[in-house]
Amino acid sequence: RTEETLLEVNNIEVIYNHVILVLKGVSLSVPKGGITALLGGNGAGKTTTLKAISSLLQSERGDVTKGSIEYRGKNIQGRDPADLVKQGVIQVMEGRHCFEHLTVEENLLTGAYTRSDGGARIQQDLDMVYTYFPRLKERRKSQAGYTSGGEQQMVAMGRALMSRPETILLDEPSMGLAPQLVEEIFTIVKNLNEQEGVTFLLAEQNTNVALRFANYGYILESGRIVMDGPAAELRENPDVKEFYLGMS
Ligand code: ATP
Repeated sequence: RTEETLLEVNNIEVIYNHVILVLKGVSLSVPKGGITALLGGNGAGKTTTLKAISSLLQSERGDVTKGSIEYRGKNIQGRDPADLVKQGVIQVMEGRHCFEHLTVEENLLTGAYTRSDGGARIQQDLDMVYTYFPRLKERRKSQAGYTSGGEQQMVAMGRALMSRPETILLDEPSMGLAPQLVEEIFTIVKNLNEQEGVTFLLAEQNTNVALRFANYGYILESGRIVMDGPAAELRENPDVKEFYLGMS
């Protein structure tokens, strides 16, 4: 591929609690302006891969013991997550963590805290978020804890967008959502990608939907990438069809 590569993960190993080897040499690259999917079943290591990239493993007693992780050609391994946000990389965690007692809008505003422009453009960015997530505009004064699962997923994504990221690491956006909402969330991902130029690396168990919206996919099994290719090719691959697309 000839596109500019933003993120390059090269042969990383991750060990939890000094003993459990969970990633056994994972390599992947994320081109600027693309939607790259990291696919695989429960426990394959998708979340661990994203957390290794965004330096969120330390708090879980996880260590990258081998390999390298580079963003724009610079080593980012072990960086302070807030530092990464300043460089343009932000993770939206699985389970849509929002501040339940704050309103939707207050939640979004917490995402603007790392901005270096002193907040001059915050209103503009809120408007941008509301353009892509009209539901959040309707619910902006509601307490986040009382919004639906789909809306909380949108809040988590909207809050990440408030830092004006170049790259979003999106963990399992479809989790627990009805098919129609999954479709809505992925459509928004596509719109953000095409209209705002946001690059995505998304971890997803729902292979079917992910391969319809992504450009490229990697399939992870027990801590190893077992297959990768353009999404359109993976969709037609007999093994992918049998093992990952059969159900849906
Ligand atoms: P899921 O969709 O369930 O999140 P996943 O592909 O994201 O799955 P991971 O969450 O990365 O998988 O987990 C990979 C493996 O690492 C699993 O076997 C899991 O039990 C193990 N694991 C995850 N977090 C920890 C931890 N903090 N300590 C020990 N083992 C862990």
